[in-house]
Formats: sequence, structure tokens, C-alpha cells
Amino acid sequence: YVFGKKKATEVAHLIWKRVVQNGDTVIDATCGNGYDTLAMLKMVADELGRGRVYGMDIQGDALKSTSSLLDESVTLKEKALTLLFEEVILIIYTHVVLTETQCVQKELVKLFSICHSRMEEIVPENSPVRLVAFNLGYLPGGDKTITTVSETTQLALEAAKKILIPGGLISLVVYVGHPGGMEELETVEAFASGLSVDNWICCKFQMLNRPLAPVLVLLFKRYRGELHTLV
Ligand code: SAM
Repeated sequence: YVFGKKKATEVAHLIWKRVVQNGDTVIDATCGNGYDTLAMLKMVADELGRGRVYGMDIQGDALKSTSSLLDESVTLKEKALTLLFEEVILIIYTHVVLTETQCVQKELVKLFSICHSRMEEIVPENSPVRLVAFNLGYLPGGDKTITTVSETTQLALEAAKKILIPGGLISLVVYVGHPGGMEELETVEAFASGLSVDNWICCKFQMLNRPLAPVLVLLFKRYRGELHTLV
């Protein structure tokens, strides 16, 4: 039902929401146009200003796009605050600021123009990472020849595995319809298949009657000695 009605990315977001908590540190390994970054920001931001999203992309255009998307959302919040300072009816403030889609704090996001295989270099050592998300393939609306590639995806998965905390999730949306996409899915699946059963729960959602639909791969890191709360 869920997959029939929604895109793979929307399904991924629903699952992230079950794992991620306010105040968490999370990583968007492929910012692209910023939709995942924004979704993550809304999940981690809390009123104390905790929660961090570390985002990365190898294309400057992608980071600009992500930054603009965050700016648009922040503008809405600033407008709401202006209304408050002008002492316009509190109900307007409450409605505008607390609406989930509008309440964001851009300063909680750090964007980096680097390959995701280097993610360990940008996340502070004392920050437990609860989610590392990949949305593989090319930048929608950009140059379709610039895509994620198996070799660096594999390195990034190894890095993600090291920095993820127990109870955390590595999430991948893998597009198989472009050159190299199917090979990349094989790399991801081989990586997942090699993870220890004692420490990881690895699964995928795939549309069997739509062979070119994106595949969602989820790698849950178990709490020591416990089953993951989701599974
Ligand atoms: N998550 C994005 C969104 O919500 O709009 C879409 C991501 S798009 C499908 C894939 C992105 O991965 C592209 O912007 C591309 O530049 C980026 N990318 C490709 N290789 C990369 C690498 N080695 N490290 C980080 N990003 C990479």
C-alpha cells in the first residue's frame, strides 16, 4: 500500500521519522536540490537549537539549490516572528510557526562541497549520528552525466557504517534506470549482504512489476543485544 501510493523518497521520509529524534545529528550524503536536507532538518530541530544536519554534494549547483530551499523556508519563519514582534494576534504566530513545514532553523544545517566518502572528516567526533541518507543517481534538473558511482558509494557506506550509532539507520534510494544505476544497486546490495546479522537488519523495498522504479535499501544498526524498535 505505502509503496503503491508514494514515491520511494516519501516512503524513506516516513521511515526516517520513526528513527530520528529531536536534537539528533544526521547526514544527507547527497544534497541535490535539498528536499531530503529540509525533511531531515524538520526532524532534528528542537527549540533549544540542538540537532544538526551535515549535508554534502560534489556539485556547487546542488548546494546552491539546497541553500535556496532552506532560505525560502527560513524566510517564512522570520515572517512569522515579525508578526509576533508586531503583537499581531498570538493565534497567527502559533499557527504559522508551529506548522511543521514552515518551522526550520537554517543555522542547524552545515553544507559541504565534498565527496560523501569523506563524511567522517566533517562530523565532529562527539556527535552520534542517527541517520545517514543517500539519494543516489544524478541531480534532477542538472547534468545527467554527473552521477554517484559505485566506487565512492561503497567507500561512503563504509564511512557511514563506522559513524552510525546503534539504533541508527543508513537509508539509500537507488535509481536503476540510468547507466551505471543497476551496477550501483549491486554494490549496495553486496555491502548490505556482508553486514553481520548480529548487528544489522538489512532490507529493501522494490516494485517487482516496475523493474526501473527506484529501490529503497534500509540498513538498521541494532542496539547491542536487542531488536530494533521498528523491526
Ligand atoms: N537528495 C536530493 C534531493 O532531495 O533533491 C537528490 C539527490 S540527487 C538524486 C544525487 C546527488 O548526488 C546529485 O546532486 C549529485 O551531484 C550528488 N553526488 C554525486 N556523487 C556524489 C559524491 N561522490 N558525493 C556527494 N554527492 C554526490
